[in-house]
Amino acid sequence: MISGTDQRETKGYVFDIQGLSVHDGPGCRTLVFLNGCTLSCFWCSNPEGISSTPGLLWFASKCIGCGHCMHLCPHQSIRFEQGKPVIHRSFCADCEEHDCLEECYTGALRLSGYEISVSKLFSLIQRDSSYWGNGGGVTLTGGEPLLQVDFAEAILRRCHDAYIHTAIETCGNLPWRNFQKVLPYLDWIFFDLKHFDNTEHKKATAADNVHILENARLLAGQFTGRLIFRLPLIPGFNDSDENIASVIRFLQEIDRTEINILPLHHLGREKYQMLGKDYLGNHHLIPSNEHLSEVALQFTEAGIKCYVGSETPF
Ligand code: SF4
Ligand code: SF4
Repeated sequence: MISGTDQRETKGYVFDIQGLSVHDGPGCRTLVFLNGCTLSCFWCSNPEGISSTPGLLWFASKCIGCGHCMHLCPHQSIRFEQGKPVIHRSFCADCEEHDCLEECYTGALRLSGYEISVSKLFSLIQRDSSYWGNGGGVTLTGGEPLLQVDFAEAILRRCHDAYIHTAIETCGNLPWRNFQKVLPYLDWIFFDLKHFDNTEHKKATAADNVHILENARLLAGQFTGRLIFRLPLIPGFNDSDENIASVIRFLQEIDRTEINILPLHHLGREKYQMLGKDYLGNHHLIPSNEHLSEVALQFTEAGIKCYVGSETPF
């Protein structure tokens, strides 16, 4: 039986929990991926996390064409073409029942996320912590973890009170009050910068960079933990000398001396097919090592330490 306390407990949506990661903070860490984002970047490697509520994923390789999903959907959102289901997703966003999943025994259909309580998530983190060894901690990512700010605050506070190292990866596009809620419980912040030309930023992410830059300035002035700026490097989008110079000027202006550049990869491409979406990152090349070195040199010549990929010293 669920007690009154349990019923009131803060819950949130997550689409993945990965134990034993070594890339997003010091030591061995548990990464928690929260659903929902305020940006929609064309190169996103976690497109299943952009929607605030779990969406329907279809794995072609697991589908045996049995047709159960088509018969179970009450909205006739699934048709069959050449022996495989084609999902017309206009009703799926508001669908709460997800009847289509019920008899998909191969796991070809699943949801990109699930609801979890703070207590349950904390117990999973505690279980993982016995494998961390020295150091380690929790990193909330996504999606944009501060979009579900009450849930993020509750889990970060719980970890902080238990002396667990805490970090977030944020796109920065949020009201400042969302940051204020979690700052007391945070040790580290990874903060993404994408493009300094607002028109380009908007075209690529469907949002302004105005709040992002304001929040970056405020954090640089007020956050006492470690703040690491990250630049996803997308050739043909934000790797021009002009944009790199703008990043350098900005970092100098807010008195920061390090940047982590994250080269574009296409590892999330298959997920777009699972969501019935087109992947637009294909038009951009993965940066070569030579190109990465050239960009890194621009930063180091300006007195900014530049770490490529997972090179950031923790
Ligand atoms: S129920 Fe699952 S396996 Fe069967 S057709 Fe639908 S997606 Fe494919
Ligand atoms: S999520 Fe809902 S609307 Fe979409 S296919 Fe499944 S049952 Fe139909």
